[in-house]
Formats: sequence, C-alpha cells, structure tokens
Amino acid sequence: MPAMYQTLLECPEDFQDLVSVEPDGCWFWGGPGGRDPLYMSDDGPRWATMFAWEHANGDLPDEHVLSRACNSRRCVNPHHFTLRPRDIRGRMATAAARKKAEVREHWAREAARLGLPPRTL
Ligand SMILES: [Zn+2]
Repeated sequence: MPAMYQTLLECPEDFQDLVSVEPDGCWFWGGPGGRDPLYMSDDGPRWATMFAWEHANGDLPDEHVLSRACNSRRCVNPHHFTLRPRDIRGRMATAAARKKAEVREHWAREAARLGLPPRTL
C-alpha cells in the first residue's frame, strides 16, 4: 500500500471521512474552513493541514511552518508539504529590499557626483 494511503488510514475516522483522495494524490478537504481547511478534532479546532502533518510526523518543530508543495489550496496530504524555517520568506524579502536600497543609494551618489538631478529606480 502506498505510504500516503497508510498515513490517511492512521488518521481519525472522522478526519478520513472529510478527505477524498484525488488522482494526483492530493487529499481534497471536504470539511469546513474554505481555503484554510479546519478540522474539528476532539481537542478543539485545528488546521487540517497541520493536524495531518503532525499526525504523520510528530509535533511541528518550533520556528517552522509547513510549505505547500502542490497546487491545491484544499489539499491536506502531509506528503505534499515541506517543512521550512518560519522566517525564511521574511529574511529573503529583507535581503532583496536591502539590495534594492543599496542600488538606489549607489545611483543617488552617482547622480550627485555627476551633478545630475536625483532619480528613482
Ligand atoms: Zn496536494
């Protein structure tokens, strides 16, 4: 049996009842939550994606989030998620913004040196 079916069969029955396995392997969530699948577990509401991942892999490590590796917003298959550090996007955005600011400053200095009016990039 493929691992992902085994993973699904290990989930609580009321969770399984809300999932339909698509031909591409996605677990389409038919439960509440719209674009952010929500599972009403015995311990209270949980994000269905995180619930399924933790059920298969154990607790999500601190400072990590799940990153979707498929294109279905309503897929909750833990095999379609990868773990990444929580702030990686923020860091990348910051690095890109810093680089852009450096370039802008460089050209502002060049413009000043050449006696040209400042321009924006
Ligand atoms: Zn998927």
